[in-house]
Amino acid sequence: MIVMKFGGTSVESSEAIERVAKIVGSRRKQSPVVVVSAMAKVTDQLVAMGHKASSGDCEASIGLLQSLRERHLQAALELLGAKKCAALVPKLETHFSELENFLRGLAAVRELTPRGSDYLLSFGELLSSLIVADAFAVRGLNAAWVDSRECLVTDDKHTRALPQMPQTRERSKKKISPLLSKKRIPVMGGFIASTADGVPTTLGRGGSDYSAAIIGAALDAARIEIWTDVEGMMTTDPRLCPDARTIERISFNEAAELAYFGAKVLHPATLLPAIHQNIPVYVLNSRNLRSTGTQITARTPHSPDTFRAITAKTGVSIVNVVASRGIMVHGFLRSVFEALDRHSTSVDIVAISEVSMSFTMETKGIPKGLLTEMEQIADVTCEDQQAIICLVGEDIHGKPGIAASVFNTIAEAEVNIRMISQGASEINISFVVKESDVPRAVRRLHEHFFPAKGPALSLQKTQEQRQGRGTRVNGNASHGKNGAGKKKSARESKAAKSVLGEKSAAIRPGLNL
Ligand code: ASP
Ligand code: MG
Repeated sequence: MIVMKFGGTSVESSEAIERVAKIVGSRRKQSPVVVVSAMAKVTDQLVAMGHKASSGDCEASIGLLQSLRERHLQAALELLGAKKCAALVPKLETHFSELENFLRGLAAVRELTPRGSDYLLSFGELLSSLIVADAFAVRGLNAAWVDSRECLVTDDKHTRALPQMPQTRERSKKKISPLLSKKRIPVMGGFIASTADGVPTTLGRGGSDYSAAIIGAALDAARIEIWTDVEGMMTTDPRLCPDARTIERISFNEAAELAYFGAKVLHPATLLPAIHQNIPVYVLNSRNLRSTGTQITARTPHSPDTFRAITAKTGVSIVNVVASRGIMVHGFLRSVFEALDRHSTSVDIVAISEVSMSFTMETKGIPKGLLTEMEQIADVTCEDQQAIICLVGEDIHGKPGIAASVFNTIAEAEVNIRMISQGASEINISFVVKESDVPRAVRRLHEHFFPAKGPALSLQKTQEQRQGRGTRVNGNASHGKNGAGKKKSARESKAAKSVLGEKSAAIRPGLNL
């Protein structure tokens, strides 16, 4: 069997769900289990409703609920037609009235607890999965709606609960395997789960990917497909750098590193269950079926690129903690780490000396009280609006000169580096720069480490330049397997221009100038 997960934008409307039904239909023989997110933006709207209600503005929260209700009923009607829709509406309405009661209760007590928040947010995935299951059935797919809360068992860390695999495995097998043996297609909501006692929990924002991987691991899937609205994982954020391209193959370790350091495509925890059981993960585009997306596996073939990708994580702060004079140095680091531990905070990059420590954290994740507590033992300063740039690639292991070329490139971009880190595993080089320097630094690094592909491109480009001809470039430079090659040619020639400007281009193997 395989797991197919569709994100919010892949189920955002009736047309989108229509596409999903086609995609799932094409995989019918492989026994798919389908996991869906809430329709795009719905979880954010539920959060907004919760805020409004718990601050006493009940009417505003009910107003938001009405528009949510209309959106779901509309999509159901478009997908199912009046008659079939009439059968689903009572189920949906039950959820809407439960939600309304909850919001009224919130407005009365004026407090939204983490436990209440999990209950509130669970409606998004419940509603979308019910609609998708019926939409499949109407299109001849033998779908069966499955309540994820009866399959995924977690601890009680509300808003970011952790799966309990043995129980999840047992319950999922019991619920889902009989359906698969009857050739049915189970459809379930991602992100939502429950404790062993049945209290609703969620896996944290963006957690539907994680659900898909947990279900895949619980049922020993042959593969996990994450269907989204981009062409897989990219060499960098295409909004920062239009020359970014899809990564065809990447290893679990590299992908996990990228997800952790800011690549938005995958939830950072997604890969853990897959790694554990060595299940390949594919990131695919539900709007472009011809694209092959990204394949994530334990091992990958050698790639000519030095790095697999470059990410940038913004919204980061540097915290500097320097032991106050006169305080015994002995035990200083231990006190700092203990303070971090008491506030359950994790740090990204750390630089340590005997009497000082600098670390980075997500600015919005700095707990109240942490810095005040540290001020008892040290001088503390905090700098916001920083970013971590991270270059990831397993092939850098044991190769000299790579850090030098990263930092030379950054120097050429006239960007100042605040902190540097390269772990002993040598899978990434990360450093901290000012947030406002990110676009410049990333573009420059991408130009340097991911030059436009192929000698024919550069050769033809130079000949055309010499002859003063137009810029249309073809040949094996076009890496789009999907007809995107033509569209990309203008971009690629731009990239080629910058490559040809680089000294290193002249000595690149195969660059036959
Ligand atoms: N709907 C949830 C969220 O928006 C989970 C997900 O989409 O993965 O965070
Ligand atoms: Mg997502």
